[in-house]
Amino acid sequence: MRYGAIEAGGTKMVMGVFDADIHLLEQASIPTKTPEETLPAMIDYFKEHPVDALGIAAFGPINLRASSPDYGTILNTPKLAWQRFPLLDTLRGGLGLPCGIDTDVNAAALAEVKMGAAIGLGSCLYFTIGTGVGGGLYTEGRLVHGLMHPEMGHVLLSRHEEDPLLNGVCPYHPNCAEGFASGPAMQARWGVPGKDLAPDHRGWDLEAYYLAQLCVDALMVVSPEMILMGGGVMHEEQLLPKIRQQVLRMVNGYIDRGQLPEMEDYIKAPALYPNSGLVGAALLAKQALPKETRNKQR
Ligand code: ZN
Repeated sequence: MRYGAIEAGGTKMVMGVFDADIHLLEQASIPTKTPEETLPAMIDYFKEHPVDALGIAAFGPINLRASSPDYGTILNTPKLAWQRFPLLDTLRGGLGLPCGIDTDVNAAALAEVKMGAAIGLGSCLYFTIGTGVGGGLYTEGRLVHGLMHPEMGHVLLSRHEEDPLLNGVCPYHPNCAEGFASGPAMQARWGVPGKDLAPDHRGWDLEAYYLAQLCVDALMVVSPEMILMGGGVMHEEQLLPKIRQQVLRMVNGYIDRGQLPEMEDYIKAPALYPNSGLVGAALLAKQALPKETRNKQR
């Protein structure tokens, strides 16, 4: 049994082939161009590397309402060529395989619960902080969907009064998490990418201020047992301790210390990063097969 996985990102498409135990056997990536250029290349890859099922961890927003005729279609993305593109149907039609699909961050949360930092926990929230900000949630045995899927990058935050940026960079909201804390927000605020700021630059305190608000909002709304933070911005090692510190300050003793784990054990780097999304896609492929097939042909 082999599982195919696609992590569909805004800049690149990563393809992977996994064995029955979700160990990565092969991996390749291609740049994300238009669907007309990119999809045939992905389909060719899996024709050359045959698999039994395919999982897709996709950038959003995406229609994840299983009863909808547009299930698996990309929605209102700023990547215009991909708007309304039927990603799931095109791959399923091109390969003739059972396919599963979810957001990249939901897939990453699934991977971390099944095989990574959150093994054994009943819930896990996965944030990515990079070109965009997104969050995926696994709780009570499943990934969370609703009207569509969570869009945690666009929760509204309080602006810091000393923030040089008056409005965040999100074209939809002046004060959302993505607008204030994404990589492009740091660039807009300081005129250089975050990676060019010194580790003791006050920009990191400001960044932690926004990301801590995001964590506290999530903590109060969905009460996850663990919060994982990945993505390019989180590569800065000084950031995570600052976030933990500010989360404690913002919670301000409201949650009983007996209920809240030590921050080092609660807000962490993902264990499978940078492959959390790809591993999650392989797990979606496995879920797309009927249970009897999964077990029989191992
Ligand atoms: Zn926004």
